[in-house]
Amino acid sequence: MIDIRENISMKTYHTFGMDITTRYFVEYDTVEDLRSLLISPVIKSNNFLQIGGGSNLLFTKDYPGVILHSKIKDISVQDNEDCVILKVGAGVVWDDFVAYAVSNNWYGVENLSYIPGEVGASAVQNVGAYGVEAKDLIERVYAIEVETGVETIFTNEECQYGYRSSIFKTQLKGQYIITYVEYRLGKTPNYKLEYGNLKSAVGETPTLQYVRDAIIDIRRQKLPDPSEIGSAGSFFINPVIDLDIFLPLKEKYPNIVSYQLPDNKVKLSAAWLIDNAGWHGKKVGGASVYHKQCLVLINENNATPADIIELADQIKKSVYDKYGVDIVPEVIYI
Ligand SMILES: Cc1cc2nc3c(=O)[nH]c(=O)nc-3n(C[C@H](O)[C@H](O)[C@H](O)COP(=O)(O)OP(=O)(O)OC[C@H]3O[C@@H](n4cnc5c(N)ncnc54)[C@H](O)[C@@H]3O)c2cc1C
Repeated sequence: MIDIRENISMKTYHTFGMDITTRYFVEYDTVEDLRSLLISPVIKSNNFLQIGGGSNLLFTKDYPGVILHSKIKDISVQDNEDCVILKVGAGVVWDDFVAYAVSNNWYGVENLSYIPGEVGASAVQNVGAYGVEAKDLIERVYAIEVETGVETIFTNEECQYGYRSSIFKTQLKGQYIITYVEYRLGKTPNYKLEYGNLKSAVGETPTLQYVRDAIIDIRRQKLPDPSEIGSAGSFFINPVIDLDIFLPLKEKYPNIVSYQLPDNKVKLSAAWLIDNAGWHGKKVGGASVYHKQCLVLINENNATPADIIELADQIKKSVYDKYGVDIVPEVIYI
């Protein structure tokens, strides 16, 4: 079924929760419906944007075109001797998929519990948390080319995954709509508990459900729940700089939080840079820096897009002025 609606508020369709309007909001249930839509007048005569749960987006103003949303929600299971291959509809809520895997004793995605959003975007964003990224588990990605309506199946390698990045965000941006993502999950335990205090939170005899519960607990303590406080999670990407630029910074700021990378590169904690530049709890209009995590900007009090943009710009400038380091938004401005 294709559902075309006009002049719709996006307040409940994106996690910042701002009351912006889209000219058209269109949902579809199947790949065939998507194909019909792509040749329909409403798409042919307007700009359009495919979204998932809207949890990594910042709408900067009302959207004058078509917002597309997938309701492809079926999951098929190929049961192999040592693994299962799950072909999951792009419109399945990401955490419903994780819960489904955990309840079936399939291993791999449990560390990605409680990440907002939908399965289609997981393959665009290469979502990651607690030492696991979607790319570690993605087998193939099914997508429809916007121009032709033809299906292409991308192998994991062809998706060119990097940190929160894929070919769908770079060379092929806007050219394909993902319909299904195939995940390969294990049938025997293979826990990844090295990250943070996960090991102690899970206890001596982990089960998939314990790991999932522990992660949900930790995330609830640190991050705003989108159903209560509007945000898009981490607003900025952790910057990567050259070692020779890092060393003088380290001398000046001995507590700077950093991770050594290969090839004389160093990743800095954007949260530390922002916190240490004095942004803890600061506000612009209705937008604020989340008091439990400086990397998250929140819609605290009916923020407008302009409030969030202004706060982000001021933070970016102040971090650059203080450390000479450029921080770039992870959140996608629309
Ligand atoms: C509180 C909070 C915590 C978060 N924590 C994490 C975290 O721990 N780790 C992490 O990685 N991210 C995290 N995020 C960010 C966000 O959850 C992820 O980026 C998620 O994958 C976005 O999914 P979505 O369905 O909401 O995508 P959207 O935000 O709707 O879209 C994201 C991008 O994907 C594109 N897209 C969406 N669906 C499709 C499709 N079917 N075909 C083609 N393109 C598509 C959109 O056009 C857009 O470019 C967090 C966000 C919030 C609000």
